[in-house]
Amino acid sequence: MPELPEVETVRRGVDAAFRGGLISAVEVYNPRSVRRHAAGVDDFAACLRGLTVTGSGRRGKFMWLHLDAEPSSAGELPGGDRVLVCHLGMSGQFRVMDAGAEAHRHLRVRVRFADERELWFVDQRTFGFLEVTDHDGTVPKTLGHIAPDVFEPEFDAERCAARLRSRRIEVKKALLDQGWISGVGNIYADEALWRAGIRGRRLGERISQRKAMELLGHVRAVLEEALEAGGTSFDPLYVRVNGESGYFSRELAVYGRAGQPCRRCGTSIRREVIGDRSAHYCPKCQR
Ligand SMILES: [Zn+2]
Repeated sequence: MPELPEVETVRRGVDAAFRGGLISAVEVYNPRSVRRHAAGVDDFAACLRGLTVTGSGRRGKFMWLHLDAEPSSAGELPGGDRVLVCHLGMSGQFRVMDAGAEAHRHLRVRVRFADERELWFVDQRTFGFLEVTDHDGTVPKTLGHIAPDVFEPEFDAERCAARLRSRRIEVKKALLDQGWISGVGNIYADEALWRAGIRGRRLGERISQRKAMELLGHVRAVLEEALEAGGTSFDPLYVRVNGESGYFSRELAVYGRAGQPCRRCGTSIRREVIGDRSAHYCPKCQR
């Protein structure tokens, strides 16, 4: 499942390709992909037509495009507050295409632009979705329940660490809780826990403030490094807007490495289940 670095890589690609672009038509091939859009499929397509992409944003694993009825002057942020929000789900992809390209078999939504290019939302498993909503000045209105991610100015590490320590919850589970900290999924949670030397099963309340802060620092570092590498291509379904893979997979220390030697101490990496998710850890480095 795409996590923050993968979503941010996709956001940058879409922004670079379509900022300033005028939407001329929208076709929805599978209503499930716009299920969150309360006013329905026809409204979804109708309310995007004639709008210009003026910029983009992201919180955690959600990304969005700012839209305005008037083309903005170069580099200006939008005057309008309309946004097209996207969650890639398990297998969602955005692809930048020229008009006339043969449709992908999992093409769910096609956004046509006035300059003969198209933005395709391709999603094999259809857990992803698109919706049009308004922006409240910080995030789209429908994302109020999603906590800030580590790169946002709204992110408060001290408070975040204190909240972790007030909970009887396994740290691994807490890292996956998008209402506590957003953008982290199974891969980067395992990696950050290994770097911090914390076993995912440990309860939040059993961690010192200093250690919790250290963990958040590792979360930030691992996300940054993965972003630099263009994300992790954990399966063929994650690709950038040009169809290429990311390169972070080779840097992973524990995720997907059960039975292989720990890069720090040589002990065999183990796999266990926490909640209903698999967790990878080094039994010697993580306590
Ligand atoms: Zn180790």
